[in-house]
Order: sequence, then structure tokens, then C-alpha cells
Amino acid sequence: AHAKFKGVKDGKNADYIPILATVPSELFAVVIATPEGKLYSTGDADHRFSIQSVSKPFTAALVMQQQGGPQVVKDKIGVEPTGLPFNSKLALEMYEARSVNPLVNAGAIAAVSLVKARSEKDRWRKVLGNLRDFAGGADLPLLKEVYRSEYETSWSNRAIANLLYNYERLYADPEETLRVYTRQCSVGVSTKELAMMGATLANRGVNPKTGKRLLDEGSVPELLAIMLTAGFYDESGEWSYGAGLPSKTGVGGGIVSVVPGRFAIAAFSPRLNEAGNSVRAMKAIRYIAGDLGVGIFGPNPD
Ligand code: GLU
Repeated sequence: AHAKFKGVKDGKNADYIPILATVPSELFAVVIATPEGKLYSTGDADHRFSIQSVSKPFTAALVMQQQGGPQVVKDKIGVEPTGLPFNSKLALEMYEARSVNPLVNAGAIAAVSLVKARSEKDRWRKVLGNLRDFAGGADLPLLKEVYRSEYETSWSNRAIANLLYNYERLYADPEETLRVYTRQCSVGVSTKELAMMGATLANRGVNPKTGKRLLDEGSVPELLAIMLTAGFYDESGEWSYGAGLPSKTGVGGGIVSVVPGRFAIAAFSPRLNEAGNSVRAMKAIRYIAGDLGVGIFGPNPD
């Protein structure tokens, strides 16, 4: 898959977060991680990039785990796909759930506000600690320049946080939540680490490397269902139709896909399509899913 799509130059780096435009566009990595913790990797698989929205299912998992299962996400955030862009304010006005689902910005900001914490520092510690646990204890760093660049230009997300607060669908102070959310998105992760995070979900909630349970087995199907219906923003229908795998993408160029019970595929390349999804990463994962016939609805080689 890596060799096949290395030459693809379509799309462009995200630039609404200024620093993302400066990431070398040619970077490209593909990794498969198994429930036994075995990694099959190729390309720039150790290069750390900002996790961005790929962090979102993992913080949703933390909320489920802290608060007795998926029901809290359904009740306090919502689980409907929006069919609208990831940072939509319109969706927030249209749907009674407001935050809509934990994988778009509104719902992800709400999820951060739902993390049980005593202070901003504690909230951040829990969010980061959880991402590190999913990555098998890797020392994932905060990419400070990414954080600064994103927080300084966070007007749209600030509007979302304030609107949610107005509708009583944000459960902590808006500016504090926005800061922790923005830090969460600015965490550096390699494609290998991302594959390990996905493999934890493929392994029904237990991290393959540490053996630590991070999500109850009974909560995994709900989380994967949300990833299937909303993990690709307004392209989620087309992705489910083609690849048939619960996945999450991010504007940093990362994507993780889960083959439940079997393995995870992660891919990274910075150039994005119009919906904000990495062109090469999508092609690589779609190709692997088709070639191995592992789409959850049955083999779909075309
Ligand atoms: N931190 C980004 C934002 O809030 C995440 C977007 C994404 O990866 O989809 O806009």
C-alpha cells in the first residue's frame, strides 16, 4: 500500500492551524498493529505528528470508563453523525443534542469537559495519561508550537465552547475546557504509536503492550459504532461504504482504523482532501482493507 500510493500528490496540508502548513508534505507511513502487540510498519513510521482529532475516540473512551459506560456519552453529548464539517456551528444549532457526537469538535470539547477532574491541570494530566496508556505507555509529548499556533487561532472552537455552555451542554468552564481540548489535539504521536492505540480497541479494550484494560469490553462496540458513523466527518458514509471499518481521522494527516478482534491499521500523510482527511492514508487503509477482505460488512475488494 505504501509503495502503491507514495506517488500520490493530491490534496494539501491543513493551513487553518498555521503551523500544520509547515509539516513536510511528503511524509508517509503505514503500520498494522496486532492484539499480540506485533507491529508491521513502513515509511516514516517513527515521525511524530499532531494527533488532532484522532485523539477524540480515546477521550470518549476515558469518559465512558470514568462514568460507568457509554450511556453518559449518549445522554450528555449525543451519538448522531452530523453530515456537516467537523467544526460546524450549524450542527450545534440544528440538533437538540447540540454537541451531536464525541468525534466532531463540539462533542469532543464536551467530552473533555466531562472528564472527571479537580482542576485544569488534573484534567490535562488525565487526558494525556489516557492517550499515553492507549499508546502502550509511550511518552507522548505535547507539541508546544502546535498548541500555541492552534490556541492563538482558536476563535471557531471558542465559539463552539461558548455556545455549548450557553445550551448547558458543556460541563466545565469553557476557556479551561478549550485549553485542555487544544492541548489534547496538539499531542505528538507516531504512526506506530497510533496503531498501538487502535490495537487496544481491536483487542476489545486491553492494551496489547501493557495488558492494561482501558475500556470495558462491553463499551467497545458503542465506541466503534460512533467511529463508523462519524469518524470521517462528513465523509463517514462514503468511508463506511468503501472500507467498512470504524476509523478516526485528524487534520494532522493521521488515520486509525480498527478491524474488531483482529488488528488496527494506522496511516499518516499530511496532505488532506476537502473534508479534512489524509488522501494517501485513506487510500492505503482502503487498499489494505480491500486486499485482506476485512471490512466488517464483508470483503469489499473494489
Ligand atoms: N484541533 C483541530 C480543531 O479543533 C482538530 C480538527 C481535526 O483534526 O479534525 O480544529
